[in-house]
Order: sequence, then C-alpha cells, then structure tokens
Amino acid sequence: MNKYVPKMYKKTIQDIEYDKLKKENIKCLMFDLDNTLLKVHKEIPKKETKDLIKKLKKEFKVFIISNNCSSNRLKKTSEFLGVEFVKFAMKPLSRGFKKIKNKYNFTKSEMCIIGDQIMTDVLGGNRYGIYTVLVDPLSDKELKVTGINRFLEKRKLKELGKLNLLKRGEYYG
Ligand SMILES: [Mg+2]
Repeated sequence: MNKYVPKMYKKTIQDIEYDKLKKENIKCLMFDLDNTLLKVHKEIPKKETKDLIKKLKKEFKVFIISNNCSSNRLKKTSEFLGVEFVKFAMKPLSRGFKKIKNKYNFTKSEMCIIGDQIMTDVLGGNRYGIYTVLVDPLSDKELKVTGINRFLEKRKLKELGKLNLLKRGEYYG
C-alpha cells in the first residue's frame, strides 16, 4: 500500500461515513485541528462541527491531535467541543498517536486519524498502521510551517494522480 494514500477521502468531516468506521471496529477518532476542525485564523469551530462531535462522542472516543505547540487555540477548541487534545504531536512521527494509544489501551486497528494534510496526517497514520481519512482543507490560508508540507504535497499529488491513486476532489471510501 502506498503510504501517502488515505483509506478514505471526503470533502469535509461532515461527509465522512462514520457508520462505516464503526463497522470497521474503530473506537478512537483523532481529528487534526488546523483546517480540519477549524480554519487557521479562527478561534472556535462552527456550531455544526460542535453538533457533529457531540454525536460522535456517543459512539467513539474523540481527540484533537495537533502539531501545534502553542496550546491556546487548541485548548479553547477542545473545551468548546468537550474533547481531549494532544499538542506537539509531531506528525508524521508517532509521538501523539502513541500517547493516546498508551493512555487508553487502544489497539492500532481501533484508531483513526482524520486530517487535511497528506505529508503529516495521512503519512503519519499509515506509517503508524492506523486507519487514515483525508479531508479537503477548510481554507486556503495556512500556518507558515504548513507551506513546505503543501509544496511537498503538491508534488506528491501529481505523482499519485499519474498512478491513479489519489486525485483532489475525487472522493472515495
Ligand atoms: Mg491541518
């Protein structure tokens, strides 16, 4: 399997088929923060995001897992949504995933990462051996640190497109 290809790809977190994840015995949903749950320069997610997370919390254990080190936005969002967060996750490294796995004794097959970046969220999840879901970024605006990853992602997408493995806007899973 190509490590840059997500198992599921949807436009937004609202479009994800969570029933399907439930059937696959996923118990732990880890959402990326920036441009997945929340636009980069916003402080608080939309109400529909809060409603979705509220619903999901009945079926899954839900987390926010971010490479951010400054925890203010992260803390605000996690309080607003009522979920735990892991900061400085170092995706695509496994630091954050491991932290959650060890704390709650999940098996890798029960864990799922949902994020907007191939070079961090998808690559990290696939390397670690968990379920990966890619969504389109909520906004064109990015954090500065994301720039290099987007550059690499663009190149990777070209390659994956040629191999018919992944194309922007062609959702599946
Ligand atoms: Mg992101």
